[in-house]
Amino acid sequence: AKGRGRGNFQFFSAEMNRATHERLMLENRLWLALEQNEFELYLQPQVDLVSQRIIGAEALLRWHHPELGLVRPDRFIPIAEESTLIVSLGEWVLQRAFALLAGWRGGELAHLRLAVNLSARQCHSPALLPYLDSLLASSGIDPTRLELEITESAAMQDPERSRALLVELRSRGIRVAIDDFGTGYSSLSYLKLFEIDRIKIDRSFVKDIETDPDDAVIVAATIGLAHALGLAVVGEGVETAAQRDFLRAKQCDEGQGYLWSQAVPLAQFEALLQHSYSD
Ligand code: C2E
Ligand code: CA
Ligand code: CA
Ligand code: CA
Repeated sequence: AKGRGRGNFQFFSAEMNRATHERLMLENRLWLALEQNEFELYLQPQVDLVSQRIIGAEALLRWHHPELGLVRPDRFIPIAEESTLIVSLGEWVLQRAFALLAGWRGGELAHLRLAVNLSARQCHSPALLPYLDSLLASSGIDPTRLELEITESAAMQDPERSRALLVELRSRGIRVAIDDFGTGYSSLSYLKLFEIDRIKIDRSFVKDIETDPDDAVIVAATIGLAHALGLAVVGEGVETAAQRDFLRAKQCDEGQGYLWSQAVPLAQFEALLQHSYSD
């Protein structure tokens, strides 16, 4: 038994070295990807559940890896999060988002809202506000068109600092949404603590809305609570007409999900908008 235990230990430590090595390789590769401009922001429409019109989009990061093809953020964001890479990557995302909003300004797309994800480390970085201020000053975009999405777990890592950040963001007119709502453990207390505009009900609740009575009750109650507090609600991960109809019946304001579209490149998103307006 002793011998086997040692064998296992060696096996695990070899595995661990490999994992650490891979992580380091990927981290270095990500810095290069930034330099070589291999990232792109895809856009997933957010739809008003009453009018069925597209009212905005969430920006979702994609990496065009020369050999691996299109890489989804779940594979690289956690690695970027472990170093200052996430701050540089986050600044790249914000810069692109401002460029998109600037491109929509003045035309028929001027009313669109663009939601951008902030990572935990980015939220707690003292560089975030000065960076946003410089982008606001140089772009001249209407700050109310920008929404920043923060997960409840990121916000709760340091509630006092998060609260102060949200006050600063909202004093500039920037909107704030709580992402993946319901997946943390202190969902309700911070609704009082934090100044926010919107909550996004996590896909895990929406998924079983039709089949799991508990989830149906939780979603309906969450919408009611949010509205009572003056907050708007987005249902995430809407894949079926029945899920959409349930959310609409419960007065959920907006939906986002494969039912309408997955996240797509800018040109494709603008084509979706043409459709949304010509109906
Ligand atoms: P998230 O913010 O919760 O984004 C929603 C994810 O659900 C996206 O995955 C989206 O493509 C996917 N999704 C949307 N509708 C549906 C649906 O109907 N069904 C299903 N099954 N999935 C749906 P994606 O693009 O792979 O992003 C994964 C996560 O990576 C995001 O989760 C977000 O936490 C993070 N992420 C993406 N872009 C950024 C970014 O620019 N910065 C940071 N910090 N994180 C990002
Ligand atoms: Ca999000
Ligand atoms: Ca989410
Ligand atoms: Ca259940």
